[in-house]
Amino acid sequence: MEKHDICIKNETIEYELTYKQMKSIRMKVRQGKLIVSAPYFTPLSYIEKCIEQYASQFLSQLKNYEAYALYKDQGFVDIFQQRYSLVLRDIGMKKCQRHGQELYVYHHHIEKCVEDYLKEILYCYIEEKIIGYLAYDFDLDMPKIEIKKYKGRWGSCFYNENKVTFHLSLVHLEKDLIDYVIVHELTHFLQANHSALFYQEIEKRMPDYKQRIKRLKEKHI
Ligand SMILES: [Zn+2]
Repeated sequence: MEKHDICIKNETIEYELTYKQMKSIRMKVRQGKLIVSAPYFTPLSYIEKCIEQYASQFLSQLKNYEAYALYKDQGFVDIFQQRYSLVLRDIGMKKCQRHGQELYVYHHHIEKCVEDYLKEILYCYIEEKIIGYLAYDFDLDMPKIEIKKYKGRWGSCFYNENKVTFHLSLVHLEKDLIDYVIVHELTHFLQANHSALFYQEIEKRMPDYKQRIKRLKEKHI
């Protein structure tokens, strides 16, 4: 991986470039950074021309990027869109506790400790929600739930295994957006593809789903 700078509209943007066995150049924004992959031996001038050409698509994403967490003492983490300050109290226990707007972390492996805590919170929230949906909106068996760190997706449904998986970063978002992802994945038990029928099923249970999708698209994973 190489790091480069490019100047677009009077702004210097740093990007990460990786050469790979591939056919065309790919660009994406991940955690506020522009990531570019290009086929081996592509001239840098050509790569930068491509970046300039597609700049309008990712410039706002880069500008609006705001991290959900900064894992260090006196850092922060967003939980259900509430910001908590991190306070390290290292007593060697892998545990966190909320006190008002602060989250006490009892181990110096702050990131791991907080992420385990977030996983638990998100799991409990999703489990409770799914139980509710199954009682009123979906005639399904209780699926297995897994929380993971995904690349580029909020959730997945493995209907053959009766399992739904969710991205850990959902924990940072508003609950009504998490609910959309839950309903989306549960609906895959009824319709495997993203067909018109699939969205009809969602609309029955969540009439304002389009507006939620729009808001979800503005979030970064
Ligand atoms: Zn889907």
